[in-house]
Amino acid sequence: MSKRTLASAVTAFTACAMAFGPGMSHASAAGDPGPSTQKQSTAFMRSSAAKSSDSKAAYDRIVKKLPADWQQRRDNARKRLGIESSPVENMLKAKLAKASAGTTAQAIDPTQYQCSATKLDGYVDSILEPVDTFNLLFLQLVGGLDIPTYDALLLGKPNNPAYALPAAYAPSLMTTFGYAQRFWDVRLNDVQLMAMHGTVFQDVNRVTKVIEFMYGVGPADAVGIAKDIISMVDSDPALKGGDHPIFTLNAFAFTGKGDPDPVIRKIPDKMIFGDGILAALKAIGLNKVGPRAVLGHEMAHHVQYEDNLFDSPLTGAEATRRTELMADGFGTYFLTHKKGVALNPTQVLQAEESFYAVGDCSFDSDGHHGTPNQRRAAASWGAATVAFSNNPNKVMPSLTLAKKFDKALPVITAPDAPTSVNAYRSLVVK
Ligand SMILES: [Zn+2]
Repeated sequence: MSKRTLASAVTAFTACAMAFGPGMSHASAAGDPGPSTQKQSTAFMRSSAAKSSDSKAAYDRIVKKLPADWQQRRDNARKRLGIESSPVENMLKAKLAKASAGTTAQAIDPTQYQCSATKLDGYVDSILEPVDTFNLLFLQLVGGLDIPTYDALLLGKPNNPAYALPAAYAPSLMTTFGYAQRFWDVRLNDVQLMAMHGTVFQDVNRVTKVIEFMYGVGPADAVGIAKDIISMVDSDPALKGGDHPIFTLNAFAFTGKGDPDPVIRKIPDKMIFGDGILAALKAIGLNKVGPRAVLGHEMAHHVQYEDNLFDSPLTGAEATRRTELMADGFGTYFLTHKKGVALNPTQVLQAEESFYAVGDCSFDSDGHHGTPNQRRAAASWGAATVAFSNNPNKVMPSLTLAKKFDKALPVITAPDAPTSVNAYRSLVVK
């Protein structure tokens, strides 16, 4: 069964799954790794530097109310929703893991710090700087960083102001969303577009519902845990009552269709933008095209859901790489097509390039989303398919486009794959 929630934002573009450490299995790449979290937890609890006594007290109270297998439940909740971390989230978590391990950071793969020179890395440092790291680690351990995501997935409604897109982005995202719904030849009018905000921490009822889902505990325990988590957030003024980008560094395409789990199956199709990912895009200079580029990629995942394009002879990392690269190609096709957003391809590719560069910091051994070069190639293939079409007014049926993509895939994933739009001319005019 394919992944249901395709995280993106930057995942859309970068593909990096930054590992917490060598012990992290591929299966847990989507969220907090089981075994290394245990390690992280232990190292952290022993740390003499643990100074957030309020948070520590709240943490102890929470753990007392949780079942013995709470860490597993927390990780399973993420798997159940099929959530994958964005590279920004992963970068944040890697930095937290480093902090928790103190100076003897053996649990950290040093190669992940190759990204130190990127703008995104600087951005993550800047948002972490004023925040108490140990407080954040406690929050992470108890699943606190996932609460806005789960809240929007489980409870979010497009007409509820609590999930409204930020005013600065709403017109552009809603217009582009409408374009995308009409552009593709599959049913996309049931996809709900909404935002997730860290201000969920100001609503004990919503946090309680998420805790019930995450840990399978009853409402009485859940409300106590929710209050303790909220007090952790409130203990650090830098977290602004949750309205801090740390909690919402992601964007998703979600479908529960066909899921054997009835709770998941009844969730409507969604596309969710976090405040944090929008802030990150702005901070790295991609405010103009970045959010729409993310939207194009995410909507491509919804096209894939509708067309059953997740079914292929490929499995595991190779299968994910195919659908991610296809979403890069489809997204660029939509953004540059006259009947789509009609953006200048050079501008689109430049914006995407900034995302792909983030991938350079990932050492992603399996390259399951595609390497930065493969992603550049997939995007250029999408732009070339528009640029060299005989009829610029015609939108190709999505299944035809997918067939063409599958034919191009071996070229796109070749070690020396060309990345210019022109290089794909001969491939797309055939
Ligand atoms: Zn994706």
